[in-house]
Amino acid sequence: MKPAPFEYHRPTSLAETFDLLDRYGDDGRILAGGQSLVPALNLRLASPRAIIDINRLPELDAIRETSDGLVIGALVRHDALEHSALVRERAPLIAAAVVHVGHSAIRARGTLGGSLALADPAAELPACAVALDATIRVSRRGGARDITAGEFFRGVYTTALTPGEIVTAITVPAVAPGWRWAFDELARRHGDFALAGLAAGARVESGAIVEARLVLFGVGGTPVRARGAESALAGRRPAAAVLTAAGAALDRDLDPPGDIHGSPALRRHLAGVLLARVVRRLTEERP
Ligand SMILES: Cc1cc2nc3c(=O)[nH]c(=O)nc-3n(C[C@H](O)[C@H](O)[C@H](O)COP(=O)(O)OP(=O)(O)OC[C@H]3O[C@@H](n4cnc5c(N)ncnc54)[C@H](O)[C@@H]3O)c2cc1C
Repeated sequence: MKPAPFEYHRPTSLAETFDLLDRYGDDGRILAGGQSLVPALNLRLASPRAIIDINRLPELDAIRETSDGLVIGALVRHDALEHSALVRERAPLIAAAVVHVGHSAIRARGTLGGSLALADPAAELPACAVALDATIRVSRRGGARDITAGEFFRGVYTTALTPGEIVTAITVPAVAPGWRWAFDELARRHGDFALAGLAAGARVESGAIVEARLVLFGVGGTPVRARGAESALAGRRPAAAVLTAAGAALDRDLDPPGDIHGSPALRRHLAGVLLARVVRRLTEERP
């Protein structure tokens, strides 16, 4: 199918973008990598009056180290995240996760900002943003506001963005010493959206988890912080009994949906498998 006719605009400044957003209101849609929007247009699941292509906006495709942490522009493509030495060093969780996003052709176009703004509950990068306690910068005419990732995702395909706002960057805070990161997901085939996934970090001392951040995806409307499982692991070595208790706590943390891809019971089971794998990886001895 072909998309319904639309007007096409390619602003070259944020001011021009905000003018267009004001002009079209709900009838204007931002186009970034187009990997989700273009299929939606082609299937006529979306038929906006105007497409506002932000790919020519300057400076939104930079990755910079600042005193606040690592700042990643909204237009940074998935494959740029994959290949950035700065991301590998300062946000290894993102580097580990992004290779699971679709296939290389999709990663060549898809953007970080698009993934966050779309808020697909099975997407990898929103969960990483929550696990990393990242801040999402949202800009509008006359200003910007910073929203913690934990508050940004409100529901299935729903965020804290209000009309006239766009995502311009995220900041990943510098991580305190002793933190380790691990990512895993289970999908039917590589490149498919995950049935369940886990983005995790832990401060590990002498083989024991001092504190942990566990964020699951594909098991709820938004990334789900597994606070019960985090508490069950805190201050402990990952002995079998601890893992069993953490698994039981994780089960209480989750209320997964069922759909044609998997039942709630399957998703709970997969989440437990991921927890055991990721905890093992976080606590294994390193040279
Ligand atoms: C076959 C296939 C497999 C895929 N597999 C995965 C996967 O496993 N995991 C995964 O996470 N994704 C997957 N995707 C989606 C892909 O990662 C997209 O890149 C991503 O979801 C959206 O990013 P985009 O830059 O392409 O956004 P677009 O498609 O351009 O836009 C998506 C939505 O976000 C809005 N938007 C975009 N940028 C901004 C911004 N800066 N501010 C405000 N609103 C904005 C748009 O208006 C639109 O509503 C897959 C896509 C395909 C086609």
